[in-house]
Amino acid sequence: MRYISTRGQAPELSFEEAMLTGLASDGGLYVPESIPTLSPGEISDLAGQSYEEVAFRVMKPFIGDTFTDAEFKDIIAKAYATFGHEARAPLVQLGPNHFLLELFHGPTLAFKDFAMQLIGQLFQAALSRSGKRVTIVGATSGDTGSAAIEAFKGLANVDVFILFPDGRVSDVQRRQMTTPPEANVHALAVEGDFDDCQAALKDMFADIAFRDGVKLAAVNSINWARVLAQVVYYFTAAVSLGGPLRPVSFTVPTGNFGDIFAGYVAKRMGLPIEKLVIATNQNDILHRTMVTGAYTKEGVTPSISPSMDIQVSSNFERALFDVYDRDGAAVAQLMDELKAGSFTVSQGAIGRLRDLFASGRASEDDTRATIRDVYAGSGEVLCPHSAVGVKVATENLGQTPMVTLATAHPAKFPDAVFAATGIRPALPERMGDLFERDERFTRVPNDLAALKALVKERIS
Ligand SMILES: *Cc1c(COP(=O)(O)O)cnc(C)c1O
Repeated sequence: MRYISTRGQAPELSFEEAMLTGLASDGGLYVPESIPTLSPGEISDLAGQSYEEVAFRVMKPFIGDTFTDAEFKDIIAKAYATFGHEARAPLVQLGPNHFLLELFHGPTLAFKDFAMQLIGQLFQAALSRSGKRVTIVGATSGDTGSAAIEAFKGLANVDVFILFPDGRVSDVQRRQMTTPPEANVHALAVEGDFDDCQAALKDMFADIAFRDGVKLAAVNSINWARVLAQVVYYFTAAVSLGGPLRPVSFTVPTGNFGDIFAGYVAKRMGLPIEKLVIATNQNDILHRTMVTGAYTKEGVTPSISPSMDIQVSSNFERALFDVYDRDGAAVAQLMDELKAGSFTVSQGAIGRLRDLFASGRASEDDTRATIRDVYAGSGEVLCPHSAVGVKVATENLGQTPMVTLATAHPAKFPDAVFAATGIRPALPERMGDLFERDERFTRVPNDLAALKALVKERIS
């Protein structure tokens, strides 16, 4: 399988190269040159299999011969061994025809562990056989950073730097990033918001001398391997609800469009998904785009679902690439226009996006009311991100079973949950001492030169 850039100007790469590179050299995102499909029979055969076995069968066509079957099975086994639930992604019922896919049983209690734990093992396997070293730099609105740190801490051939917006992540999120004692972990609190962190990351990649000098690798949601890992749980959920005979719909709390794009890939692979619903919080650029056709940046307004507080949604570029018939020049043109703040999706392309995705938005009040009502109605305690999903899913319920992705454990956002329900969700026992561990991080100005100097100094 070869990988191509959404902007059409970067070299084609293998799976391993695309994974180690992250962002393409033309500023685009790597996508597989074609999407492999599973037949209805192959999908039926997934029923009753372990999560790991489904992961192997779903991802195998994308990785080609990067690893032997035995190696890849071992990578998958190690990736999910750290999870606190045997099903990995258990499904619970919320109401008539409405299910919750619990994606928060990994080591940092958010769905990003699914991708990050896998990527850690993939990197380790690839780097140890080549003897190379990489510097991973990630930007996080909260959950990516801790997931990356958990996945890469202590690995011999990797340094991991995480930029997070100072004061804009929850205490649990911050402590998950700042308490691991491993020397290859560098948590950096940037004086700015998530978009500042993301911009700094993009600029580091655009500086070729720096990028090659420190052997930069990205594991943000733009990394294809992350999207790929997330495709798996759409299959396990759909199959346990009667797929492929019975179609299923999904609602996905969305920020950078990575998780929902994985659902789109599952659908393209042949999984019968009826509706894919984009659920945004008040930072609703994606919902506005679906409604108006104009993708227009606005400032970020901090919300109680901070991992979705973005103004630009990086992975949306992958969807644009497809609805523009994989015309890299057209996508590059749109991204150029975006630098000035806005672009308009063509009539044809927005029509296709609307065929593929529904969308909705939850205000802060909606989110709080949903946490309260769902707790009262079912006893289920939702995190604010999952509540955004449930609110929007409720507007899209029908004959087809609806699965809402629960993206984080409620204990990661105890204040918001307490305000809505009067109960304070406890951390799972395995991380109960998080608030007693020592913190270690560096505060840095929102200044590119200073950030680059710091990275160089730390890895030398
Ligand atoms: C990252 C994150 C999201 C958004 O996921 P995207 O793939 O960026 O759309 C939603 N909820 C939680 C808890 C997250 O950590």
